[in-house]
Amino acid sequence: MPSLLQIARTLPANKGKVAATQAALAKIFGRDEPVMLAFSGGKDGAVLTRLCEPYAGRFKLIWTNTGLNFPHVEAFIREAGARYGLIELKSNVAADWRENGLPAEALTVANALGDGCHTEPKLQAWVGCCARNLAGPIREFLCHHGGPITLLHGQRREDKAPGLGMSAMSVPDHVHVEAPLAEWTNVDIFDFVAAEEVPLPEHYGEGVIDSLDCRVCPAQLSLPHAPRMVAYMKDRYPAELQIMLTGARRAHAAVNASSRRLAGVIARARKDEKLFVAQRTSGVGDCMIAALATAAGISYEESAAALGFPCDPETGLPDLPQGRGVNINEATLPLLKMGLPFATTMTKESDPESPAMLPSSDELKAILPGRNAVLIIFENEEGHALAWKDGRVVDAAATDPFHRRLNDLTLMGAIIFTEGAG
Ligand code: SF4
Repeated sequence: MPSLLQIARTLPANKGKVAATQAALAKIFGRDEPVMLAFSGGKDGAVLTRLCEPYAGRFKLIWTNTGLNFPHVEAFIREAGARYGLIELKSNVAADWRENGLPAEALTVANALGDGCHTEPKLQAWVGCCARNLAGPIREFLCHHGGPITLLHGQRREDKAPGLGMSAMSVPDHVHVEAPLAEWTNVDIFDFVAAEEVPLPEHYGEGVIDSLDCRVCPAQLSLPHAPRMVAYMKDRYPAELQIMLTGARRAHAAVNASSRRLAGVIARARKDEKLFVAQRTSGVGDCMIAALATAAGISYEESAAALGFPCDPETGLPDLPQGRGVNINEATLPLLKMGLPFATTMTKESDPESPAMLPSSDELKAILPGRNAVLIIFENEEGHALAWKDGRVVDAAATDPFHRRLNDLTLMGAIIFTEGAG
């Protein structure tokens, strides 16, 4: 009788996907042509390799050694290569950086220009660097193979790589590129890893649950796992982290300078517009929608949709919760999703009994000049949202929206936009 542990191990939650992938692999290996499995020491390649275990001896791992791999990842790759066979290709990342610039997630045109026209620091989109230095040599190898050949890779749709990464490479007809894990989710991958006890490089056990590519690449600091990677590298790869941070600081400063210039122009243009967005409902309701739209410089419809209460296309009215308006705390996540730079705070006056070190209404008012904000006040026994825009209070519910003075208000809280002059 199998033990409960064995049953648990053989019943991963993604059983259907495992079976479908096994069937797809059977077909692929049935073509009876050389098979290469792209392997860079990440979880997806590790799972794919395990699924190909029945075909050991009929496929090889293929890997581009950039010379900048994390040593523990390289050791992991070589260990797997010793079992399955390894085609090791090379690229020269340092030469690529000299020619095309530091890889970055965000860059300006001026910093990315070629032919020596760029402004320092020279930057390039990291996807181009990865395409040339990781996928490029593999593509070359496949293109020059003298007959039909299959490349398996672990890219998944959830990763949102255009064209499924290597599946989008332009290759001649004799090259067949397959992504058998395309429909797998991260959860599927980790369920399988747990159930099948698939070994992964040590950083996965340290909370960095994604692959680590080049160990000094500044663009890695823009990836979702960056905070954990930094914590891990501080301890394990401090010298490499310093190089990574130096590059990232240079890229960030260049992009930030450009962004600030643009923000300044937008802010000045808005100041001249003196626009505000009016409320569309009377009484309890949409003051937060209108105040946010005014302060952030977006339309009523955008604000309502972002807050989760989209407007009815026929009436133009938002689908508000029964009997109440939108609370300041409910606005936090939507604002983060919109990518707006902001900070939220309540004041002492909102809860005099609170032991929290909250600013007073006056302290909050003192930091408003030069910024735009949504202000929360309490009147007629309910909360009301006003906008603070271009140095003026805007009450979008009033006939004269500019009649209020900041000095006359007791603020209960505010959403303060931290960029853009007001
Ligand atoms: S990880 Fe960074 S340095 Fe390495 S190939 Fe990709 S973009 Fe280039």
